[in-house]
Amino acid sequence: MTPEFQPANDRYSRQILFAGIGSEGQARLATARALIVGCGALGSAQAEALARAGVGTLRLVDRDFVEFSNLQRQTMFTEADAAERLPKAIACRDHLTEINSAIAVEPHIADVNHSNIEGLIEECDVVIDGTDNFATRYLINDAAVKHGVNWIYGAAVGSYGVSMTIRPGQTPCLRCIFPETPAAASAPTCDTAGVIMPIINVVAAVQTAEALKLLTGATDDLHNSLMQFDVWKNEWRRIALRKPADDCPTCAMRNFELLDAEAQEFAAVLCGRQAVQVSPAKPVTVNLADLRQRLSAAGDVKGNEYLLRFRTGEFEMTIFQDARSIIRGTEDISTARSLYAKFIGN
Ligand SMILES: [Zn+2]
Repeated sequence: MTPEFQPANDRYSRQILFAGIGSEGQARLATARALIVGCGALGSAQAEALARAGVGTLRLVDRDFVEFSNLQRQTMFTEADAAERLPKAIACRDHLTEINSAIAVEPHIADVNHSNIEGLIEECDVVIDGTDNFATRYLINDAAVKHGVNWIYGAAVGSYGVSMTIRPGQTPCLRCIFPETPAAASAPTCDTAGVIMPIINVVAAVQTAEALKLLTGATDDLHNSLMQFDVWKNEWRRIALRKPADDCPTCAMRNFELLDAEAQEFAAVLCGRQAVQVSPAKPVTVNLADLRQRLSAAGDVKGNEYLLRFRTGEFEMTIFQDARSIIRGTEDISTARSLYAKFIGN
């Protein structure tokens, strides 16, 4: 539909009519910047909701590419994205631009780690958790508490989901509530237990409603609790939050050990994926055209402007411009590392 048929001032009319937002809230949204960490199932739903709501700038970060097994619940993506293996951050940016061309979208194809998280949250008004693992959530928690940025935790496994909004200094942080990784929603169960889309929608809806409240200044309306839902067992629970824990290493002691890490793990098994991610020891940018030529002597190479896909024996390596590789066909780190050393180098 051309702009003549859809005047810009009409786009947000129903949201402006809503008393909680109004025209003042809408104006605040237009100048707001949100970071969405992870463009999988939760991230897809969050990004769509905030783009439609008119949040002025969305910064998206994701390390992965679209696959057919994502389409059941990752609503931002299409079969064409999976066939092309587009990086999720790029595919998400492309679709968001079709939904709302008036907002700015900044895609980052990257693994979120200690070296980049602080730069990513810089100048953001809110951080929304669309990750699938607790290691990244504790990293977000460290960075958000250190810089005093609000963030909204969310997780979904099977038919169960959980969400909590963290306002550093005012509410408990993630580590106040979960000093260690909780068993119920931990990373190893994420892929092995499966997940259904309705719980994604519930968790993402609560997260994005909280984001809209934070961004419009409606902080009295925040739910201020640990919310838990199970859409299959029909259980909804809300545990009220108290003050931050006096002995919390993160928000009380301000010990941000995850941000200070000297060297991050070089290789990590991607749970339930039969894959290992190997990262370069130092930040580097790969010339994909040169690498493609080099690899074509050793096997079948395909690719797009963001990544290469290289098949060797029973393994498939996907190589990104930042020299990260996702190696499928093994969950053995030493096998993955030796493939990386052989074909990409160090
Ligand atoms: Zn804390």
